[in-house]
Amino acid sequence: MTSNSLKAAMQLVRRASYLVAFTGAGISTHSGIPDFRSPRSGLWEQVDPLDVASLHGFRRHPERFYTWIRPLARTILDAAPNPAHLALARMEQAGHLKSIITQNIDMLHERAGSRAIHEVHGHLRALTCIHCFAGFPAGPPIDAFIASGLIPRCPCCGHVLKPNIILFGEQLPMRALIAARREARRCDVLLVIGSSLEAYPAGELPMLAYRAGAALVVINLRETALDPLAEVVIREDVIDALPLLAAALQNEV
Ligand code: ZN
Repeated sequence: MTSNSLKAAMQLVRRASYLVAFTGAGISTHSGIPDFRSPRSGLWEQVDPLDVASLHGFRRHPERFYTWIRPLARTILDAAPNPAHLALARMEQAGHLKSIITQNIDMLHERAGSRAIHEVHGHLRALTCIHCFAGFPAGPPIDAFIASGLIPRCPCCGHVLKPNIILFGEQLPMRALIAARREARRCDVLLVIGSSLEAYPAGELPMLAYRAGAALVVINLRETALDPLAEVVIREDVIDALPLLAAALQNEV
């Protein structure tokens, strides 16, 4: 990171009265998790996303979805938080960061020790029956599925269980989305981390923060649509930039 962009980001973050982070797939790629919504992820070379990972496709052919997600689920459950996740957790513990809005379903912020997390694309922590809407912890049924390939079924009614991740064509979870919008409007500085901002509507949240008067700090290897609006753009790998920012903040206090 150049000392100038670090300094500029530092000053903004230090002055912030309500700092929030918005994270996307780029924060988890160093934990080995592909960006499963991106055409560049390689996950869509063999299958049609709308057929396999849409709500409509899931209801018609849940076995196709489960075949597709089986290796990905294993990768996610085996993944460990990386230095970028850990840096955000330290920033929260030190009182600098108020919350994280994440597009990721991998639960790595939680495993890193972060507490205030709004998962706007859902998570792999629980499963919901597509028929009776009963909810269940994902652990045992997903472990059994990964081991055996048997699709998880509802103990109450026998229908297929769907992981609480948001599929294409599915509405975002209302409670998480309302909380995320509240945080976006409330923050005065928003760190936008590892997100291509292509996924709608979650990608609109940084724009909401900007319109409400927040300063944006974009940390992303590639250019993003928000760069022209950002107060500071850090074109660095998140696993380098965030630990430096967290350490600089701690030394300052
Ligand atoms: Zn059921």
